[in-house]
Amino acid sequence: MPTAISELTTMRVGGPAREFAVAASSDELVALVQDADASGTPVLLVGGGSNLVVGDDGFDGLVVKVETSGMRIDGESLWVAAGTPWDSVVAASLDEGLAGLEALSGIPGLSGATPVQNVGAYGTVTSDVLASLSVYDRETGERATWTPDRCGFGLHRQSVFKHSSRYVILDTTMKLRRSESSDPVRYAGLADRLGVSIGDTVAAKEVREAVLDLRGQKGMVLDAEDHDTWSVGSFFLNPVMTTVPAKAARAPQYPDPSGIKVHAAWLIQNAGFAHGYGREFGAGTVSLSTKHVLAVTNRGGARTADVMAFASHIRDGVEAEFGITLVPECDLVGCSLN
Ligand SMILES: Cc1cc2nc3c(=O)[nH]c(=O)nc-3n(C[C@H](O)[C@H](O)[C@H](O)COP(=O)(O)OP(=O)(O)OC[C@H]3O[C@@H](n4cnc5c(N)ncnc54)[C@H](O)[C@@H]3O)c2cc1C
Repeated sequence: MPTAISELTTMRVGGPAREFAVAASSDELVALVQDADASGTPVLLVGGGSNLVVGDDGFDGLVVKVETSGMRIDGESLWVAAGTPWDSVVAASLDEGLAGLEALSGIPGLSGATPVQNVGAYGTVTSDVLASLSVYDRETGERATWTPDRCGFGLHRQSVFKHSSRYVILDTTMKLRRSESSDPVRYAGLADRLGVSIGDTVAAKEVREAVLDLRGQKGMVLDAEDHDTWSVGSFFLNPVMTTVPAKAARAPQYPDPSGIKVHAAWLIQNAGFAHGYGREFGAGTVSLSTKHVLAVTNRGGARTADVMAFASHIRDGVEAEFGITLVPECDLVGCSLN
């Protein structure tokens, strides 16, 4: 019985993997990829499957589930193998008296995938704390240790790893601070929740609790019982443009290195798609989250085709209303919007 990719992803869609393997160590991970490359077999790496949507036909190649483990703390430096669940890294760092990751609490997935889209939340992004990472380069066949300047971070959710299968991230090292105090709070909603001002610091563990609470309210912490979390988190990127169309002038906007970033959730809501929208759509297997309009969710029994049709419908509605085309944030493999 081939492994169903739907069992490996948080959206719980995706057909079978032609071949499937689990990598329990970095050497095993590299060997699996090397052998597949030598035989011309396509490879798909899967971590927590929380940013990945695979087509109903599955993957015609080798799916490798990254399950490498290990974490080491040396002074203010934290080394972690790619297969370690990200939130366990955050929790362990705080328990060890290291601050810096608290705002990134509760993000699903594995630590090896956090640099892929320079994961971020509540004012912190991975590149703020990343000191180095080890990669296996499938083109040169070599392993190397990179500093962040090689990773192509900069634009929103971008890196040299995103939408590329050239590099396998084996481990990451983060530079943290030995302190019980958080980094300065950078996000208004978090500052409100903590009852402090932007720029203030509080106990780092208090920030973690507040972030987990805020994320939970938005369905942004995985919970198998809650279909609002059967998602990839934010399905669409916040669009960046040089001129904001007049109709979208009231949307929250933020400066971005390449223009103005516009709040995608506002666009979706103001194009007429409310929380939970979609129950009447298609077979009723997909809808927007009842807690957060940026999350496209599987209500049970969805196929990838349903997700693609529904996400296309949302994109088209926003485009018709504002002339702005939303683009998926997650990785689509063997599927695309219509
Ligand atoms: C409820 C929910 C909330 C979320 N909230 C946030 C948020 O606040 N901020 C945010 O930025 N993201 C968020 N996400 C998205 C997601 O959690 C992150 O992108 C996460 O880092 C993905 O990790 P993963 O291990 O699940 O990656 P996967 O989904 O397994 O993989 C994602 C991509 O990375 C590749 N990949 C995986 N491992 C490696 C590796 N070791 N080397 C090279 N490539 C690799 C895969 O092939 C795939 O292309 C959320 C998702 C969900 C479901």
